[in-house]
Amino acid sequence: MTDIRTVGVIGAGQMGAGIAQVSAQAGYDVILSDIDQTRAEKGLAGIAKLLAKGVEKGKIEQADADAALARIRPAGDVAPLADAQLVIEAATEREDIKRTIFGNVGPLLGADAILASNTSSIPITRLAQAAPDASRFVGVHFFNPVPVMALIEIIRGLATAPETVAAIEAYAVKLGKQVVHAFDAPGFIVNRILLPMLNEACFALGEGVANVKDIDTAIQLGLNHPMGPLTLADFVGLDTCLEICKVLHSTTGDPKFRPAPMLVKYVEAGWYGRKTGKGFYDYSGAEPVPTR
Ligand code: NAD
Repeated sequence: MTDIRTVGVIGAGQMGAGIAQVSAQAGYDVILSDIDQTRAEKGLAGIAKLLAKGVEKGKIEQADADAALARIRPAGDVAPLADAQLVIEAATEREDIKRTIFGNVGPLLGADAILASNTSSIPITRLAQAAPDASRFVGVHFFNPVPVMALIEIIRGLATAPETVAAIEAYAVKLGKQVVHAFDAPGFIVNRILLPMLNEACFALGEGVANVKDIDTAIQLGLNHPMGPLTLADFVGLDTCLEICKVLHSTTGDPKFRPAPMLVKYVEAGWYGRKTGKGFYDYSGAEPVPTR
């Protein structure tokens, strides 16, 4: 089984930074890469902030936070990933981008190295075609925010080897996460069930059933969810939600997954949710304010 000591992460956005943080906190050396050094450094700065908050709240020791941060090396290109035994791709949810990344990083990887994708919806078997070895390619689906959420879905493509699954499971367990295994079907387990709900909330908003606040309050209190669907969509990123709906729609042909026009409209406006400061809520003030 591949002995994982160094984890490479591609994409230093909200998911990639989270994956880098929990990997470093579990004792792995981490290379956090993005399109350029500035973005990689921005990801690292976000991790430093979160670790400092953890220390402030008494959740982690200062020495452990310092040690975790020191294990993360930011990189503006993929070259340093040659040192990693596990590379997790957490870049933008677009198949063309992911395929290009695998084409670039594939030739750098060692003979035992595992390439994994944190994709929310793109079939693992299909993505594996762009990887150097489909038997060492696997889906590892984290949840947002990564340091807080307890679950990891492991998705096995048709050609993924059992040793690859065993190695990625051992890594996930070392992070302290609970693992579930999913067949490589569109949306795997969680997003297959979640996205139709988030998308339906966007349909309800677009059809004037209720405003943003009332849709969220209704679901939060009526179904005892920790937050409403539009708040959650803003957390996930509306661009990511839209891409997942498109993949579910195109891979199944099932009209129930067609993206809601209101979701499309928000993405067209560049209102992607928390990460851009505005989505179904405006996050520029002390409290989020509904935008409709
Ligand atoms: P994000 O927009 O916060 O971050 C994406 C990052 O990828 C950006 O920093 C961007 O610069 C980088 N990137 C784009 N092209 C790149 C390239 N060619 N090389 C290197 N880096 C590149 O998005 P996110 O929410 O972190 O999502 C990342 C992945 O994780 C997506 O596949 C998404 O579906 C998946 N995911 C997201 C969530 C969620 O709740 N947001 C949950 C689970 C999985």
